[in-house]
Amino acid sequence: MKKILIGTALILCVLTALVLLRTASYSAPPLAAVERASVELDRAQIARHLSEAIRFRTISSQLEEPQTQAQYEQFIAWLAATYPELHRALPPARLGRNPQRQYSLLFTWPGKNADLPPILLSAHYDVVPVIPGTEDEWQQPPYDGVVDDTHIWGRGALDDKSAAIALMETATQLLAQNFQPERTVYIALTHDEETGGEEGTAAIVEKLQQDGVKPAWSLDEGSFLLHGFIPGIDGPVASINVAEKGYMTVDLVARGQGGHSSMPPRDTAVDILAQALVNIHGAPLPSGLEGLSGEMFDAIAPHMPFGQRLLFANRWLFGGLIDSALEAQPGTAAMLHTTVAPTMLSASVKENVLPIEAVATINLRVHPRDHIEDIAQHLKSAINDDRVEVKLRRGQPASRVSSADAAGFKAIAEAAQKTYGPTIVAPGLTIAGTDSRRYETIADNSYRFNPMVVTREDTSGFHGTNERISIENMANATNFYRLLIEQAGAD
Ligand SMILES: [Zn+2]
Repeated sequence: MKKILIGTALILCVLTALVLLRTASYSAPPLAAVERASVELDRAQIARHLSEAIRFRTISSQLEEPQTQAQYEQFIAWLAATYPELHRALPPARLGRNPQRQYSLLFTWPGKNADLPPILLSAHYDVVPVIPGTEDEWQQPPYDGVVDDTHIWGRGALDDKSAAIALMETATQLLAQNFQPERTVYIALTHDEETGGEEGTAAIVEKLQQDGVKPAWSLDEGSFLLHGFIPGIDGPVASINVAEKGYMTVDLVARGQGGHSSMPPRDTAVDILAQALVNIHGAPLPSGLEGLSGEMFDAIAPHMPFGQRLLFANRWLFGGLIDSALEAQPGTAAMLHTTVAPTMLSASVKENVLPIEAVATINLRVHPRDHIEDIAQHLKSAINDDRVEVKLRRGQPASRVSSADAAGFKAIAEAAQKTYGPTIVAPGLTIAGTDSRRYETIADNSYRFNPMVVTREDTSGFHGTNERISIENMANATNFYRLLIEQAGAD
């Protein structure tokens, strides 16, 4: 008995020593003391320009409507009038697959060295509509572009007119100093990202393809400097996303006998469908902190306080604990697996008529580890009922994973650190779709990052209410793009 006790104590001691040792070696070196580099900017003017841009209702889901088309035309005219030097020096090509709606703009800034592959910087200026019924919840009207002491308010302030305007400000400033980039810089302002980029972004990619342009890398929206999202980390984390999830929609069609509802069979189409949904709910797709999500936490966790660091340093022991903590929050859970969200249901058209068919629509966001066909197969096996058909409506696989070691990633990280000071940088995964999935077909690497700091509170503004951005962020974003364009040529 005594021997067993001593043995157990010994094993515990070794285990504890191992855990502590791994934790000690998992700590990060202090963040590199980067010299901050910024120039004097006319903040009031930048704020005013974004404010004016917000007033155009460039709502891509309403592009069929003549008044929306007029807003697009007016926005493009406003851009030309607001940034005349830029338009004179680098007249943009107007592009769009629909000849009547060539609202996407491509500025080409020729580099000194034609042998270097170019880079592509992009932002979209279309916005989503304000959700009907939420207008009153806005502290400032969504299309007035109100500027107060600290913020610019309105639809598009975060997503993504802010980036579009910061790019315009940067290019204007650099042109005023007769700057010429080392490698060619393309600046794309796209007009239909929120509806899939079918007309505008696609036309830009086609044009670049025709011209034989192969960017070394592209930079577009998809993440931010995240402040207060990760427990134990005080400052913002620059999450430069190197991949994005895919998109998949399936219909589950359950068939049953029709007839009068007074004499239902044991299983109606709705019962069958309901059981199928319950089965799918009970059989989640594989999940876990490995691959890209693991790399993200490996970049961040060494900066955490001892307790959390101990857990992440010993994932062989505490992996399950970490996974369940991350699974508990929808935001972090979505990074670990393919998400499955039933969104639409339909069955009989009359209360006393049995449906012959009941249909559930499920929207899935595909993790890079999963494949569309395998997911469909997984759903079929989970349902395990021949009376239910799984129909694929739409399937777009996850993007490629771009390199976090390539020059583009490093240039973006450095520009962020020179703008914001010592900052943790981590590669990440965008959990929704962006224009980058089109850019990755021509660029070696595609990065998803907006150079602004967002807090949890800010996130309700994305496609929601009270969207706003701080003037400070706008100045920093302009500074970031300047540093990026200046430095990107060198390596
Ligand atoms: Zn966006």
